[in-house]
Parts: sequence; structure tokens; C-alpha cells
Amino acid sequence: MKIAFIGLGNMGGGMAANLVKAGYAVQAFDLSEDACAKASENGCAIFTDAKAAVADVDAVVTMLPNGKIAESVFSGEIIGLAPARALLLDCSTIDVDTAIRMENTARASGYDMVDAPVSGGIAAANAGILTFMVGGSKAAFKRAEPILSAMGKTVIHAGQSGAGQAAKICNNMLLGASMIATCETFKLAEKLGLDLQTFYNIASQASGQNWSMTSYCPVPGIGPHSPADNDYKGGFASALMLKDLRLALQAAASTGADVPMGKRAEELYAAFVEGGQDGVDFSAIIRSLG
Ligand code: NAD
Repeated sequence: MKIAFIGLGNMGGGMAANLVKAGYAVQAFDLSEDACAKASENGCAIFTDAKAAVADVDAVVTMLPNGKIAESVFSGEIIGLAPARALLLDCSTIDVDTAIRMENTARASGYDMVDAPVSGGIAAANAGILTFMVGGSKAAFKRAEPILSAMGKTVIHAGQSGAGQAAKICNNMLLGASMIATCETFKLAEKLGLDLQTFYNIASQASGQNWSMTSYCPVPGIGPHSPADNDYKGGFASALMLKDLRLALQAAASTGADVPMGKRAEELYAAFVEGGQDGVDFSAIIRSLG
């Protein structure tokens, strides 16, 4: 089975390599020559542009920076150029409205399409252990499942078109807000003179327990190994958290949902990123709290 892969960046590079490992013939393209060279080393066939890469494939996977780029690549270089039998899978994180519009356009041209954003960072992409949340028809999901399983450990059908993106931004809004709440709680505990390891032992067994604390603790030396133990390098960049919070606020505005905690999280991450901290892990926001 031939798969075109467009967007071989931090995430897409590892994902395309895992499709090759699973036995798919991968026809790849990225605007970056370096990304193409790396993908070639990993067994992908490199094409001169996306149009050429999708010409005779059974599926097209995209992993692009944002909705504007994804929609322009789909409308200009995939729809009408890939054969109608090709299943289209957009794994980029983009806004819900654009995802639904892209899928409507694809369907009108005879394609099955899913939105399939991921949870898990670059290490999970390289290791093939991403979580995919998928929006689309049952039939399209059934076609997508084996391809996504070659790149991830969990593949969940979230609902109709756009439901994958909806699940992704809801999850990440909760994550952003819970990370800030965890950070400020540890700062307060410290000011109150609590031993932080002792407080962790208590809160991780009490009603304050949450993933940001027990799986990704922002305090160095406490909890399982996390980016805090590596000077907040690696992990999930603050700029990407800000991107996802902004997508969540956009979705909240378009649906009339009241999200005061999500809004405050966006304000705090915006100030953090604008202060030059865009590349550090999002748990480093603890360093901005007094
Ligand atoms: P990245 O910037 O490293 O990769 C994007 C790639 O797309 C780049 O190599 C770029 O050259 C390429 N590209 C841009 N426009 C193109 C075009 N017109 N044609 C072909 N290639 C083009 O970004 P990333 O970190 O790999 O993230 C990709 C997506 O995954 C984003 O939507 C991001 O929000 C999402 N995501 C990232 C992470 C993470 O930890 N990095 C985690 C979850 C989700």
C-alpha cells in the first residue's frame, strides 16, 4: 500500500519513518530540504512537490504547522490530484471549523477523510506510541485505523468530522489550566514552609491529584522523571501550548462556551511565550510565578 506523507518536521519525520517500518511504501514531501534528506535516510521516497507525491497513492497523511497551511495544501495540492480512492488523514492540530470545512470539501470530491490530531510529543512520534483522536465517518475511521496504529499505541474514534480536533483542544485546554494550577499550588506550599516531597506524597493521594502533578511534575526532583528534571528542555513547547489554548478559545467563542480558566491560562502562557520562553517545556511556567 502506498502512502503520501506531507510535512516531515519534528513530528511528521518520526511518523513517516514508522509507516516505512510497518511496511508501507511512503512517498514524502516537505518544503525543507533537511527534513526531506532525513526522511530519505529513513526509507521514504522523496518527491519534488506534494502534487507529485500524492499522484498514485492509497492514502495521504499530512502533519503541518496550522490550519491555514493545511487547508491550502489540501485544496491546492491534494484534492483532485490524489486518486479518489485515497483516504485523506490530517494529523495536524488545527481549528475545528477549518477541519470540518476541509472534510466537507474532500467529501464533495469523492474522498473519505478524517481529522486525526495526536497527543504525545516528538519522542512519542519517534517511538510510534502516539494517541490519535479521530473525527470522521465510521467507514473512514475503519480505513484509517490500521494506518494510524502503525504510528501510535491508541486510536480512538471521537465522532464525526472535526471531533478529533475538538477532543484535542478540550484536552489541551484542561492540561494548560491544570499545569498552571499545579505550579501555583507548589509555590504556595513552599511559601507555607511545607516540604515539597511531603506535600507531593499527600496531594498525589488526595483530591488534588492530577496528571500535571503525578505524571509531569513541574518541580525538579519530585514525581517521575519529567522535563523539569532536564532544565525544562524537550517535552511540549510553551509556544505549542499557547497555540492550542488559542484554538480552544476560538472554539469557545464560536460555540458560546464560557471558559474563564482556559482564558486565564491563555493570558499567562501568552505573557510567558512573549517573554522569550516559547521553546521551553510548558511546565517551566512555574518559573514565572513568584
Ligand atoms: P514542525 O514545524 O516541526 O513541522 C511542520 C513541517 O511542515 C515543517 O517541516 C515544514 O517545513 C512543513 N511544511 C510547512 N508548510 C508546508 C507545505 N506547504 N508543504 C510541505 N511541507 C510544509 O512542526 P511539528 O512540531 O512537527 O508539528 C506539526 C503539527 O503537530 C502541528 O500542527 C502541531 O501543533 C502538532 N503537534 C505537535 C506536537 C509537538 O510536540 N511538536 C505535539 C502534538 C501535536
